[in-house]
Amino acid sequence: MRILSGIQPSGTIHIGNYFGMIKKMVESQNDGELFAFIASYHALTSVKDKEFLERNIFEAAVNFLALGMDPEKSTFWVQHDVKEVLELYWLLSNHTSMGLLERAHSYKDKTTRGIQANHGLFSYPVLMAADILLFDSNIVPVGKDQIQHVEMTRDIATSFNHTYGDILVLPESKVDENVATVPGTDGAKMSKSYNNTIDMFGPAKTIKKQVMGIVTDSKELNEAKEWENCNIYTLSKLFMKEDELASLRQRYATPGEGYGHFKMTLLDKINEHFEPYAQKREHLLNNPKEVKDILAFGASKAKKIAAAKMEIIRDAVGLI
Ligand code: ATP
Ligand code: MG
Repeated sequence: MRILSGIQPSGTIHIGNYFGMIKKMVESQNDGELFAFIASYHALTSVKDKEFLERNIFEAAVNFLALGMDPEKSTFWVQHDVKEVLELYWLLSNHTSMGLLERAHSYKDKTTRGIQANHGLFSYPVLMAADILLFDSNIVPVGKDQIQHVEMTRDIATSFNHTYGDILVLPESKVDENVATVPGTDGAKMSKSYNNTIDMFGPAKTIKKQVMGIVTDSKELNEAKEWENCNIYTLSKLFMKEDELASLRQRYATPGEGYGHFKMTLLDKINEHFEPYAQKREHLLNNPKEVKDILAFGASKAKKIAAAKMEIIRDAVGLI
């Protein structure tokens, strides 16, 4: 069984990415063959700054490796090191109806947020389909926001197979219902490109500022608070066990504490959770050559599979 996951180097990786994807991805290394890549081409839909992109590709690699990505056991590479994906993207484009792309939620969400509505952003799901189909992926672990893209991949592959025979493997998405969408500090989906993220690593001051910026209602210290729709509580659920949550709910119900107190509790939990990975991360940050070699090794493994698959696909469509 092949499992495929990608993350865009479009900003600093956040706790939504971690719980929505990275954690399960790392765990899945024992369940099947993991293919994980840094989606550098995808990131160009929102990133137009060379240094920023290079830095984020490197940091994404460092964070993944620190959090448990095993480059021997799995295949871990940067998307643009395996260019076959762009060829497949074009071939698949000719099996993708305009209507399908027009229905994509992610495109609508991003353009509403002011990200430029260019063709790259519009056709992003086709590139994602190419990522998935090039490696005969069976399972794609994703956050809720990406389920539709995996469905689109199935539609595109079905259309392609209908024309050329049984060539592409239909993937399935896998969502952990417990953490389907991690909210950002403003309550909307936490996203690198929405400026509402909470980091896992980095300066303690930055993380503190992000946590302190979580939006709440305006209840006073001497009022009881409601945990049900509180962003602090929703985020705390990711880090606390039921007994800790029960005592947190008790604190919400008892007047005398403000949201600042609940935020500090959450902040401690976040720092505690990621502390064990910090040392490895530090080491990798200081040894870029090591990271580069790991990625080159991953790219060579991925390239072999991609090249073989493209041979079959080219042959099928008449490009030989
Ligand atoms: P961007 O704003 O550039 O789209 P992003 O934060 O949405 O960035 P992606 O690179 O698009 O991150 O997604 C990487 C993975 O993280 C995907 O599997 C996605 O489903 C998951 N993910 C992203 N945001 C969240 C979230 N808030 N909660 C849970 N999972 C998430
Ligand atoms: Mg996204």
